[in-house]
Amino acid sequence: MIRRALCVAILAASTALASAQSPTTVAFTNARIIDGTGRAPIERGTLVVTNGRVTAVGPSASVTVPAGAQRIDATGKTIVPGFVNAHGHVEAQMGAALPVRDDLIRRLRIYALYGVTTVVSLGSSAHDEAAGIRLMQEQERAGLDRSRVYTSGTPVEGETAAQARAEVARLADLEVYAIKFRLNGGANDMNEAAWSAIIDEAHRRGLKTAVHIYNLKDAQGTIDKGVDVIAHSVRDQDVTPAFIAAMKQKSIPYIPTLTRELSVFVYETTPDFFRDPFFLRGNALYGPQVPQLTTPEYQARVRSNPTTAQIKKAVGQAERNLKVLSDAGVTIAMGTDTGAGGNPGRWQGYFEHVEMEMMNKAGMTPMQVIVASTSNAARIFGLSQVGTLETGKWADLVVLSANPLENIRNTRAIDSVWIAGARQADVPVTQSR
Ligand SMILES: [Zn+2]
Repeated sequence: MIRRALCVAILAASTALASAQSPTTVAFTNARIIDGTGRAPIERGTLVVTNGRVTAVGPSASVTVPAGAQRIDATGKTIVPGFVNAHGHVEAQMGAALPVRDDLIRRLRIYALYGVTTVVSLGSSAHDEAAGIRLMQEQERAGLDRSRVYTSGTPVEGETAAQARAEVARLADLEVYAIKFRLNGGANDMNEAAWSAIIDEAHRRGLKTAVHIYNLKDAQGTIDKGVDVIAHSVRDQDVTPAFIAAMKQKSIPYIPTLTRELSVFVYETTPDFFRDPFFLRGNALYGPQVPQLTTPEYQARVRSNPTTAQIKKAVGQAERNLKVLSDAGVTIAMGTDTGAGGNPGRWQGYFEHVEMEMMNKAGMTPMQVIVASTSNAARIFGLSQVGTLETGKWADLVVLSANPLENIRNTRAIDSVWIAGARQADVPVTQSR
């Protein structure tokens, strides 16, 4: 009896504390609202958030702000859905002093700082796989203090179909969100029996599959066997009419990951963006990597590496293919390969904005880029609760002080970031709660 009374008292106290920290209802008024669906923006809109979710959104004249709501006047501001990275990596640094869980959380907070409120992590490593799955399982709640992660666990490999199936089964039992595998287009690739078994076993377990490809041939081959997502650009040749037709007929989405290419060659000299205040926003995470990338020895190694010249060519090919596929009506989703283990200079948070700029420069309109980076990126992985600002979805959003439809670089004019209705810290907090 006493114990029960104590529990009730603790519950009452913690409820009071929670409501003191974040009011249950927040209303943004007078904002330009881009809802992520591709519809024209609402020029003077109201968006109401209750218990972490969007409960009303529309022109200010037609939305009633509930009594007692905290009002935020967003005159002159633009609200967009939190950006969704459909191909990132949330991996802990090997040998870091920070515990694995805390390392993953600090990365999710850097993504949050940049308005990238959801990351589909297509490949963790063995030492952070369990921690990533755990974080994914803990995030379906109001008032998150970090970005969301949906993880595939470690990429699947196997020399035989039986090995591939066993590895997919292991991951499915761990309740990963999707299955990732790689075909680099080289001699060390898995044989077709093994990789087609990955797709088949994943589907049997109700999981989508995403493939890393380089060549058109591998993209086409995996589509023929039922793969769900093409997670890199076709970089060896122009996409063909037959390939475009297959992508469209099977509704296969395409993730260009242009900044992955950029990260291969940009460090042959010191990039200007190292001095960009928007880059320096992420300095708590980025700073320790910069000295390594700016030594003359490192930059000379990048210049003399044959891959550098190959990838410089490949990025042009990737940009041309992106324009053709986007114009043809293939679903494009934003992804970057940021955070991929062991590869320095793939900046989680900053590079998603560079990616959006590169997609725009490749020929997509700012609205197409925003849709690719919000609703499309969520939908292709079946994330039904994020990616648009519609009633019932999580209130994951970015308030911008400039209009990204006028210039895609205005995605960087971040005023505030909200996840599940909670305003994120303006400086990253490294400690776990
Ligand atoms: Zn990747």
